[in-house]
Amino acid sequence: MFLHMLINYLLIVNFMVYENTILDCYTDEPAGLGVPPYLGVHPRYLAGYLNGEVNYITIDDIRYYFDYKNKKKDTQKTNIKIYNLTRENIKEVLENTKNLYCVVGVQTPGKYLSALPGTIKELKKYLEKIKSKKILYGPVVSTGTQLHGGRRAEFIPEGMFDDMMPEVFGSYNELNQFAVKGAEIAKQIPWPKMIEIETGRGCIMGKCSFCTEPLKAKVEWREQKDIHEEINKFYEFGERNFRLGKQACIFSYKNMDIKELENLLKPIGRESKLKLNCLHIDNVIPSLVNEERVKLLVKHCTEGNVAAFGVESFDMDVVKQNTLNTSPEIAMKAIRIVNKFGSKRGQNGMPYFLPGINMVYGLKGESKKTGEINFEYLKKILDEGLLLRRINIRQVTPMPGTKMEEVGMKFMKKNKSQYWKWRNKVRKEIDFEMLKRLVPKGTILKDVYMEIHDGNHSFGRQIGSYPLIVGVNERLELGKHYNLEVVGHMLRSVTGRVVS
Ligand code: SF4
Repeated sequence: MFLHMLINYLLIVNFMVYENTILDCYTDEPAGLGVPPYLGVHPRYLAGYLNGEVNYITIDDIRYYFDYKNKKKDTQKTNIKIYNLTRENIKEVLENTKNLYCVVGVQTPGKYLSALPGTIKELKKYLEKIKSKKILYGPVVSTGTQLHGGRRAEFIPEGMFDDMMPEVFGSYNELNQFAVKGAEIAKQIPWPKMIEIETGRGCIMGKCSFCTEPLKAKVEWREQKDIHEEINKFYEFGERNFRLGKQACIFSYKNMDIKELENLLKPIGRESKLKLNCLHIDNVIPSLVNEERVKLLVKHCTEGNVAAFGVESFDMDVVKQNTLNTSPEIAMKAIRIVNKFGSKRGQNGMPYFLPGINMVYGLKGESKKTGEINFEYLKKILDEGLLLRRINIRQVTPMPGTKMEEVGMKFMKKNKSQYWKWRNKVRKEIDFEMLKRLVPKGTILKDVYMEIHDGNHSFGRQIGSYPLIVGVNERLELGKHYNLEVVGHMLRSVTGRVVS
């Protein structure tokens, strides 16, 4: 591992300057994450398309250069706007750049521990100072971007970009060579990464009113050999953390054929010759959960794995009016099955495989009783003794092209006063209790990577899909791994003390 880090370091300090530059403003989509420590597919595929001869820089690099004049101040709180810096010579890169590709697209905004995605508004002030040709690239081109939940997509001023380029390169046959070639940019990124891997595009359900995923592509699956080739290339460069997260549902892989899923997982999983530190997944459609599929994931993936269920609402009126993918009873059944086979604790201190729930407020048909119904179901999960890794609650962003675009902010505005009340009740009465059950005091969480300081406190996470944030009441050295004992619980995070 040390050798890999040394090679990476030498490559970073000696890298060449190219005339094409990818500026990663980070992406977060219904299927696919590209906010550090995640390295998303979009900058990688683009780098491959440009034959690997690109500079990879981040919005953090640009802020650091223009706003902070390349100087970091000693602050009590880590500044996450300039946390993910790739290099020191941004001036040289910008001066030599002919084509600047700006990767943008936040469509399911969240809160990020150590990164802040760039917005169109922010980008505008920097691009005015940059002379190269500017090309907008990524999910934003087809379906918009918005960093804040409960707002419409950002406006893109005319003339801000010289060109726009959508993110999908034809068929997978065409794409695969770019995917492998694009792995090269990992060499330009000095922090420990989670590599997001695409297994398919489009959605077999494809009707949820708020979702941009079905608008981007028809259903298509990547061949196992192509996925393995891409992972092997990253492995050569020392990367050990992967998430099969760029797809609407991992269980729908190749027409829901479990043999095909096994052929995908086995050559890279825990029993394979690759010794991955982390192999996780992301999205799962609850109606496709069965015992066989869950057992397969537990067997081949590493512990701390999470199946994010897009439940969105337990209110049947909302489910029907937004043609959501699951009914409350199907979601409950899926939660029970994943718990039955996945809740055993693994080596790193976390259960092997748990469900996570996504909830969205502001959908069509939402009423005063929606919040109560959602709470009742979550309480039922708690009372049955089941585990959820996390409950993600967000306000809808009516993205262009979705059915929610027509509905707009009507329901968001109507229930605005309720939203925080609903959310806080879930946080206090469900999340807090769930967390105490998930990681009781005394649990040892291994290899927690320390990322930020806030006053005399430090915060870190294990690498993984939706990792738990652990706060420590001392200023630990950042950028290092620690084993921590859980000593207390907050609403959505835990406190720990260093044991080694
Ligand atoms: S199931 Fe619904 S939310 Fe999930 S990807 Fe498909 S359309 Fe989007």
